[in-house]
Amino acid sequence: MDLESLLFGDEDWRFLLSAFVRSVIMFIVILIGLRLLGKRGIHQLSVFELGVIIGLGSAAGDPMFYKNVGILPAIVVFTVVIALYRLVTFLITKSDRIETLLEGRPAYILKDGIILETFKDQPLGHDEFFATLRQSQVSHLGQVETVIIEADGNLSVFFCPDEKVQPGLPILPAELDRCSDNVTIEGTYSCVHCGFTEELMPSSGFRCRQCGHDKCVAAAVGKRIV
Ligand SMILES: [Zn+2]
Repeated sequence: MDLESLLFGDEDWRFLLSAFVRSVIMFIVILIGLRLLGKRGIHQLSVFELGVIIGLGSAAGDPMFYKNVGILPAIVVFTVVIALYRLVTFLITKSDRIETLLEGRPAYILKDGIILETFKDQPLGHDEFFATLRQSQVSHLGQVETVIIEADGNLSVFFCPDEKVQPGLPILPAELDRCSDNVTIEGTYSCVHCGFTEELMPSSGFRCRQCGHDKCVAAAVGKRIV
């Protein structure tokens, strides 16, 4: 392998100074561009905004280290993309349909401790969902009244007041591992797939009345401790 081409590519060391100046200029352009986008941080970017950021990232990065890519075309790209972004965000405030198309819309995924059918339409697995709830000190689904997945993918969790906590599906990893497809002693059991909870007598071959899944686990009853 040729060390010089590994280090410098097609350029020689004199391009390093040029790359330094290009990077400083493009960094300033990026900062100005992000200020003009009007976002305060990268939290809660919608898919549409993420697309804009990726496009700008490519336009900003190339002139930093490609000798044959000039700075002015990149600034034109920045100006056009930011102007379009401002135009589209203006249209979004005027039309619900455009907003839904570009940003998505919030959806209920859990109600009264039961995971709704809409859950499977979301880009969210059970593991990730339970992990997010655990970070809010939820140990079983009976402690949760409602979960909404927002347009940006974040979960909004509304808890049951202590006196309304019902037995529900435990979501601590060790407890979920104890799931079974039959019931050996009478008690309250939750479906591990949807969280539906009911009193069951000993039987073999569990089948959830809500979703048809075939694994259940003893329901948990504790209140949420914050
Ligand atoms: Zn179920």
